[in-house]
Amino acid sequence: MTLTSGFCPKCGVFSKNGELCGNCRVKDIVCVTILPRVECICCPNCGSIKTAGIWSDCLVKRDELAYNLINSAMSIHNDVKNIQKNIHIVDISANRSIATVFVSGTLYDVPFDISQKVKIVWVREQCNRCCRISGGYYEGVIQVRATGRKPTSFELNRAAEIAYQVENRLQTAGDRLSFVSDIDEQKDGIDIIFSSHTIGSVISHDICGALGGSFTTHPKLVGEKAGIKLYRVTYSIRLPRFSCGDIIKHGHGYFHIFRQIKDMLFVHDLATDQSHNFREKDSDVFIANIHSAEPIPVVYRDAGVLGILDPVTQEISEIPDYAWIKADAGDTILVVRDHDTIIITGKIDENTQNIDESATETRV
Ligand SMILES: [Zn+2]
Ligand SMILES: [Zn+2]
Repeated sequence: MTLTSGFCPKCGVFSKNGELCGNCRVKDIVCVTILPRVECICCPNCGSIKTAGIWSDCLVKRDELAYNLINSAMSIHNDVKNIQKNIHIVDISANRSIATVFVSGTLYDVPFDISQKVKIVWVREQCNRCCRISGGYYEGVIQVRATGRKPTSFELNRAAEIAYQVENRLQTAGDRLSFVSDIDEQKDGIDIIFSSHTIGSVISHDICGALGGSFTTHPKLVGEKAGIKLYRVTYSIRLPRFSCGDIIKHGHGYFHIFRQIKDMLFVHDLATDQSHNFREKDSDVFIANIHSAEPIPVVYRDAGVLGILDPVTQEISEIPDYAWIKADAGDTILVVRDHDTIIITGKIDENTQNIDESATETRV
């Protein structure tokens, strides 16, 4: 045992094994450092923040963001125990806040507390996404058209809806620069203008998946940036000749299309109500969309025929009484016309008659 054992070699107070005492160790150590000023670059339009040169969506409110900033401006020595923190923030202007930070704890059994003010500077800068949006930036366009017809309003609304759903999906996944720049109505369809090749491709695939049809791509070189060639791509979508809900003449029969995949049509036979599928033929003829079917009263039912009062000619016509219709005198049926041929597409249910009729009117 030497003379110094049991005493701090620096100040001489008792220490268990003759090591430096807590007070002497603490003297040379900084327990807590807090930067006096922190800066946060945020977009005034969308609230995104820029960290280390990279923009990202900010998922927390400004208060929480300020607490996070103060916490990241603070570093506490690893050996500190019993840490207590208190942060009080006051906004003094739109771009300045003052935080009063109080930290207490113990280091080598020596208690300490410090208090410091931190200035938070909020720097406003338009983010990369808002910059592109306000500048009308785009990398391509999707032209939604149909083969040999105009797309229906259902198809156009659905295409636009899909475009915004894809935008939501990609933004949520963190793809900030993928958005729909604009949707323009054209006389034969709509143009969806998009900001990134990713979103253009996803929207085109999703529209064809939902509405049938296919697309071709046409890239066009528009310039070069830092040695990288820049292209704008036109996606030319062709929706199929027929759409869901169309009634067509195929061979000698009339069919109601309820689904289609490429040129394969899934249909109900309007004579039997049986489901079939077949490939579309050039000889198939569009008759009408089921939404434009007109109501006609049934006057009588006789061996295999229904007598109906045609409002156009004001005469009684006879049409085949198909079993699946289950119509009788006094019922109202729905029909479409192929020149002089009247094709039955369904029956108005007595209980929902008003709903059906009004629905038909608004669609026409
Ligand atoms: Zn000492
Ligand atoms: Zn922004």
